[in-house]
Amino acid sequence: MATYPAQDASSSEDGSSPPPPDSESPSTPLPQTFQELGVIDSLCEACNTLGYSAPTPIQARCIPVALQGRDLIGLAETGSGKTAAFVLPILQALMENPQQLHSLILAPTRELAQQISRAVEALGATISVRCTLLIGGMDMVPQSIALGKKPHVIVATPGRLMDHLENTKGFSLRHLKYLVLDEADRLLDMDFGPILDKLLKLLPRERRTYLFSATMSNKVESLQRASLTNPVRVAVSSKNQTASKLLQSFALIPLKLKDIYLVHLLQERTGQMGIIFAHTIHETQRLAIMLRHLGFPAIPIHGQLSQSARLASLSKFRARSRNLLIATDVAARGLDIPSVDFVLNYDLPSDSKTYIHRVGRTARAGKSGIAISFVTQYEVELWLRIENALGKKVDEYKVDKDEVMVFSERANEARRTAAIAMRDMEDRGRGNRMKKRKRTRDDMDQEEK
Ligand code: AMP
Repeated sequence: MATYPAQDASSSEDGSSPPPPDSESPSTPLPQTFQELGVIDSLCEACNTLGYSAPTPIQARCIPVALQGRDLIGLAETGSGKTAAFVLPILQALMENPQQLHSLILAPTRELAQQISRAVEALGATISVRCTLLIGGMDMVPQSIALGKKPHVIVATPGRLMDHLENTKGFSLRHLKYLVLDEADRLLDMDFGPILDKLLKLLPRERRTYLFSATMSNKVESLQRASLTNPVRVAVSSKNQTASKLLQSFALIPLKLKDIYLVHLLQERTGQMGIIFAHTIHETQRLAIMLRHLGFPAIPIHGQLSQSARLASLSKFRARSRNLLIATDVAARGLDIPSVDFVLNYDLPSDSKTYIHRVGRTARAGKSGIAISFVTQYEVELWLRIENALGKKVDEYKVDKDEVMVFSERANEARRTAAIAMRDMEDRGRGNRMKKRKRTRDDMDQEEK
């Protein structure tokens, strides 16, 4: 059963004053059970069924505050258990005062919204909660029909929600009790700000609001001022979250031998679940073709795939019928992919923040994991910058070059096959390329890369 490594947590009123010297002080031991947090038995049972043996620090700090009826700012990332930190109080409030269209959870991307709705359904299974998902890239009609059945909880991306508010007859959020803005920093980075402003005007003032964000930028602060009332701020540092269980290393590799090293490394990890990060869509596709040619069950995921193709990739990966996911940074944040044994930075990320998000895909929920970064002769400086920002020396992953070169012939042949396949794909693409479409509201919840 998963347990979480010790994390540093603190909380304060509205973030402006130091933590009050009460049970919210970081030095106070965190409660060890959901009962102690005040969670009702039926929801404790759901946590138990999901294998949540003890609350994570963000849950232990947020849930009691939320159950007191306060607004909340949670500074935490995916992987911290933040979803249950806001879903449990909402479900408890729903149990106490059952109501249709009770709460709305907004998320920046389709995948994250899907994950949250799965969590709502899993945690709400014992209380028969009705949850509807409203995301772009899907037919609006079945969503409108689902809204007609008056769900308790709506999980949505902002663009599609607004489309429904404007176009779906009889749908309004006038009686909403709870609003959650999840990954608020990304909601704003993805230009949802104007839609959120418009939306806030359509919601009742008498409601509770929870805002979760990995970072607190100026934009997030102004959204907080516009949407929350006298909130309590809870911060969970993710700095040492990964330290004990995540083994990080880097491998110095000549650029032209990258693919051969990749094949060697994957050969050593046959059967393990891994995410391989590449810079571009082109590279994820090329690597997937190359690896499949070599018999590795690899599958690409990036923002240019249709929504159904992305979902299909993810579900094959989750079901372990493909154990290597080749991803652009679209998969680095927000996605809840359990049990990844390793993360490989085939291409280094351009900054330390992205690095942290990427390696956060492994060693989650107390499990151990490995993160390896390829560093070519041109990237030493960038790597040192990342290492510096991590504040610690990362070990070098030593490999015997002769052992690696055993794979050169097979890897080079697979490279050539992939290059030909990519050229064919590009030729086909050029043939039927559509005129560049203007970005519509419906496209906004998709990632760029
Ligand atoms: P989140 O940060 O909400 O995306 O959660 C990350 C992962 O941790 C998800 O797979 C959750 O199911 C899992 N999780 C959440 N809370 C707990 C808990 N208390 N104990 C163990 N795992 C948990």
